[in-house]
Formats: sequence, structure tokens, C-alpha cells
Amino acid sequence: MNPIYRDMPTTIFEAMSMRARASGAINLGQGFPDGPRNDAVIQAACEALQHRSNQYPPMVGLPELRTAVSDWYRRHQQLDLDSDEVVVTSGATEAIAAALFALITPGDEVLLFQPLYDAYLPLVQRAGGMARLVDLDPSSWRIDAQALAAAVTPRTRIVVLNDPMNPMATCAHPDDLAMVASLCTDNDLIAICDEVWEALVYDGARHRSLMQYPGMRERTVKIGSAGKIFGLTGWKVGWMCAAPPIARVLAKAHQFLTFTTPPNLQWAVAEGLDSQDAWIAMACDHHQASRDFFCAGLREIGLATVPSAATYFVSVDLTASGIVMDDAAFCHAIIDQAKVAAIPISAFYAEAPPTHLVRFCFAKDRATLATALDRLAEALAGLASVPSRG
Ligand code: GLN
Repeated sequence: MNPIYRDMPTTIFEAMSMRARASGAINLGQGFPDGPRNDAVIQAACEALQHRSNQYPPMVGLPELRTAVSDWYRRHQQLDLDSDEVVVTSGATEAIAAALFALITPGDEVLLFQPLYDAYLPLVQRAGGMARLVDLDPSSWRIDAQALAAAVTPRTRIVVLNDPMNPMATCAHPDDLAMVASLCTDNDLIAICDEVWEALVYDGARHRSLMQYPGMRERTVKIGSAGKIFGLTGWKVGWMCAAPPIARVLAKAHQFLTFTTPPNLQWAVAEGLDSQDAWIAMACDHHQASRDFFCAGLREIGLATVPSAATYFVSVDLTASGIVMDDAAFCHAIIDQAKVAAIPISAFYAEAPPTHLVRFCFAKDRATLATALDRLAEALAGLASVPSRG
């Protein structure tokens, strides 16, 4: 058995969702939305299931979807991607795996920022890469220039950037993007950019891809997700975009991971990207309003929130809320006592985690959020007496 898998825990998202299902808790842990529902895209998938092919589509994706992705990025992010530069994957997680497997030669060093999405590190290790962890500044979640420079060695080949960032719900500062771009061009690095939250950026801000920065067009792998854009996380339709010499190698890794992605879902996503700009903007406003409702509610019951500029998530600062418990103990306690599931931020660290932050998913119906807030309020008084489980 491979020790990477033998010794790793089940991903925190599945672990907390399992606990939530078992105890009937409201699941504000794993990030998936209650709505809004895009009926046009779902109907297009039904039509395609009934009336179009159910056989293997082309390995790199249906031409309709590859073209729709490149058009969508041209309209929304001023990127000049050709459809040949898009490889469709079974979700962004597969794209991340394919990119790391394709681009890492065993022994290469890979820069990862902490907090990090939990899939990155085991996939880097499985590809034979040596991860170099760079902590973001926990007061702002910005990149510390010195820490970044200190992590680069002659063996560094890749930097992985998640922007907007899960879990802390920040958008990368333009100066930080420029810094990463210079780092890549100065050291001949490839950037793997997990931008699955690009359509869920709030307060009028616009997503800007690292790929737009000088020198980055030829050395960036940009990863996106229809699951996030249309709120259909179970569909597992994603993609990776890169200049042809990189895209060709990415496709080789993809062909022996999943080979293809269900064609019906690909057609539906293509139609959605072509026709649903207004719905995508509406969904973004909808989630922003849910964020505002939930954050106001958290503050009312005495929980201090960390600013959330994007994603489905907001974090609570336990220390600032006067709660003397670590994040994991708090999450166990609120599942048991409030029947509300959340995610401890320490799960997003491979080493030296902060233990005072807990992530909640606000992409839920108002009534569900309101019930969760009521239950948390009721349970909070008792929580101080629960011993830490470490
Ligand atoms: N991206 C989701 C989250 O952060 C989890 C996805 C998964 O469970 N693989 O909650």
C-alpha cells in the first residue's frame, strides 16, 4: 500500500459531511449550494441524455464546450484562449491532479501557499514532487515577499495558486499577483492556478487571472469549474487551459485519469456558458446576499467574522469571539450540540496550523441559515465548558 494514502485521513469535507448526515446536522461544512438552480442548464443536460450521444466524447472534451470556455474567458476576463488550449476534465480536482502529474518530474520542488486546499499536497507528493510550504500572512492572507523568495531554490519548477482562495475567501491582491508573475518569469516556473471561484467574487470586484500578467500567458495552467459557475457541484465538469505545448502534456495525464467526462453534461455546460451570463451574475448577487445575511447573524450571536470577498465561505475567529476552544473541538462541539457542521481551518494546513478559525458555507436557503444561527446561539453558552479534543 502506498503510505501517502495509507496514512492520510479521509478528506475533511467528506468526514464532516458524513458526520452531518449521520447526526442530521445542517451541513455548513462542505461547499455546495442549496440554490439558485439553473433550470436551463439542467434541461439541456436532460435533452442531451435523451437525444444526443451517450458514448465517449473526444478525450480533450467536446468542441462545443472547449469553444464555449474560450469564449466565456474572452468575454469575462479578456483572455485570448483558443479552444485548442482548453482540456475538459471531470471536475477541477481532476484538472489539478492531471496538471501536477503532467508537469512534475520526481524531485521537482513545488511552492504551495498555506492555507491550502487539502488535495494539493498529497497530489504533489504522489507525483514525486517536493512541496515547499509558504504561509500567507494570517492578518491579511497576503503573500509575504520574503517568505516567498526564501522558498525558491534551483529545483523549484511549479507554484500552485488558489485565487479566489478557499478557505479564507480572499481575492489575491494585484501586487501579489504581480509578485508571483515576476517570480515565475525570473525563475522559469509554471503556475497552476486553481480559479474555480472566479464567478463568485463579491462587492463589484472582478476576477483577474494570473494568466493576464506579463509573461504568464505561456506558463500558466488556468483551472475552472462548471460546478461552481452553475452551482452544480455534483456534475464534476471542469477544465484546464494552457498554451499548446503545456496543454498537450496535460491531455496526456488526463487521458489516463478519467479519459473523458460525460458528454451530456459537457453539452449542457457549453449551452450554459453561451447563454447564461445574466443568470451567473444573478447567482453571484444571490450568494453575496446570503453572505451578508449569515455574517450579520453570526455577529449578532457574538461570533466575530473574517471578511469574505468571494466563494461560498466565511470564517469565524474563535479567539476574537471570546471562545477558548480550538477549531476542531469547536466543530465537533457544534455538530453534537447545535447540529450544525462546519470545517476547521487547521485542516487546510500541512504544518503549524492556526487553530482559532472555523469555516462556514453560507450558500444555503435563508431558512436553513436562520435555523443554523438559532441553534448556534442556543449552543454557544454551553460550549465554553467543552474540553478541547486537540
Ligand atoms: N471545494 C469544496 C469545499 O471546499 C469541497 C470539494 C470536495 O469535497 N472535494 O468545501
